[in-house]
Amino acid sequence: MSIIKKRSAFAGVKLPENKITEEEPVEKISLPQVAVIPVQQNIGAPCEFIVKRGDTVKTGQKIADTDKFVSAPIHAPVSGKVSRNKQVLNPVSGAVVEALTIESDGQDEWIDMEVIQKIADIDDLRQVLAMIEKIPAKDILGKVREAGLVGLGGAAFPTHVKLSPPPEKKIDTFILNGCECEPFITSDHRVMLEFGRHILLGMFIISQVLKPENLYIAIEDNKPDAIEYMHRLVVEMGLEDKVDVVSLPSRYPMGAEKTLIKSLVGREVPMGGLPMDVGVVVNNVATCKSVAEAVLEGKPLVEKIITVTGAFQKPKNLLARIGTPVSELVDYCVLQDRDKYHVILGGPMMGVAINDTGYPVTKGLNCVLIKQGKAGREQNCIKCARCVAACPMDLMPLMYPKYVKKGRHEECKQYYISNCIECGSCAYVCPANIPIVGYIKTGKKKIADKK
Ligand code: SF4
Ligand code: SF4
Repeated sequence: MSIIKKRSAFAGVKLPENKITEEEPVEKISLPQVAVIPVQQNIGAPCEFIVKRGDTVKTGQKIADTDKFVSAPIHAPVSGKVSRNKQVLNPVSGAVVEALTIESDGQDEWIDMEVIQKIADIDDLRQVLAMIEKIPAKDILGKVREAGLVGLGGAAFPTHVKLSPPPEKKIDTFILNGCECEPFITSDHRVMLEFGRHILLGMFIISQVLKPENLYIAIEDNKPDAIEYMHRLVVEMGLEDKVDVVSLPSRYPMGAEKTLIKSLVGREVPMGGLPMDVGVVVNNVATCKSVAEAVLEGKPLVEKIITVTGAFQKPKNLLARIGTPVSELVDYCVLQDRDKYHVILGGPMMGVAINDTGYPVTKGLNCVLIKQGKAGREQNCIKCARCVAACPMDLMPLMYPKYVKKGRHEECKQYYISNCIECGSCAYVCPANIPIVGYIKTGKKKIADKK
């Protein structure tokens, strides 16, 4: 029987939630007139463009691909004409990447998609489950890959890779991650409330590939409506004997894979390891929605639900096409006295401040946050160890600024810098305003550059 359970939390940090858009239904923003498509939108290998300037494309047409396994193809988010190639600065990675622009023809003419079942037309969910059981796992993986799916919680790790663990890694547990622990962000919450059937169908499809013994839906207790709705759908689908809906205390960063696994099933992912090393795969709710759309409707990933929040007059959850300039989201939600604010891609803990709002919506973007003023001035470390107490990965964050400032990046390895999940908890509690995560990102990049 599916039971709603409470589990005790890891220490973590209790943050002010500021979920000011949690009751804002998803709104569709108009198509961009010009979509900007960076060639790298996932962890792993970049793609190469397979269309060129002057080509006409349809919405959903593949425009970039690679033969590398750890990657995901990219599709045209609008129909129209490829207008030019350019370079854009990825503000998250700091790398300059190739991009192309597509001038929309305003028609939004889609490619023909291979539809097995339109999700909106489903009357009896149980019948669809019986149909899904007949789809071979390799076909599911092929459709997920061809749709260009990546983790939509922000990690952007190719989904078909995550669902293809090597044979020696037996997966016994799948966790559907509905913990949206970062303040302000509500896109996953809205996805659960508005696309719950999609999500559960996606979870069921994934379970046909991984064949786990244990299936969990993990949601923090600050979203009781989502917990109740997911539980109701589990019962409607007749999965109550197979799926546990679990309510977890709302602590940051509960939604990070490693902390979620530790909290929920008590397993510790080893330093430098992956969830599959402890028999677990975790997928975010929005990713599962896209899995259902890819497998049942043949729909590639061309749009995203994004929370646009903070000091806007009209903060919202928006459905935007990939490639839409962030400036169009900012304008849609109305920001006055723009000079007083700075724009962050992502939430307040893990996000990155940007100067150029011409940068587009990409697969990994889940929030655009507007904040007032500037961060406090950095001071010397007072060795208070608050950062150590706050770190969910049991690291010593205070060591990273010290070594990175001196260019002693290799020494960061002795303090397991690669195991940092860049959650920002250390910087949040630091009384000396040390931007610890910035130093960590620099340290990781310097180490990677030396390889
Ligand atoms: S919280 Fe800040 S001041 Fe305190 S030990 Fe960590 S880095 Fe130093
Ligand atoms: S060191 Fe990394 S994992 Fe630990 S609190 Fe800081 S950002 Fe989070």
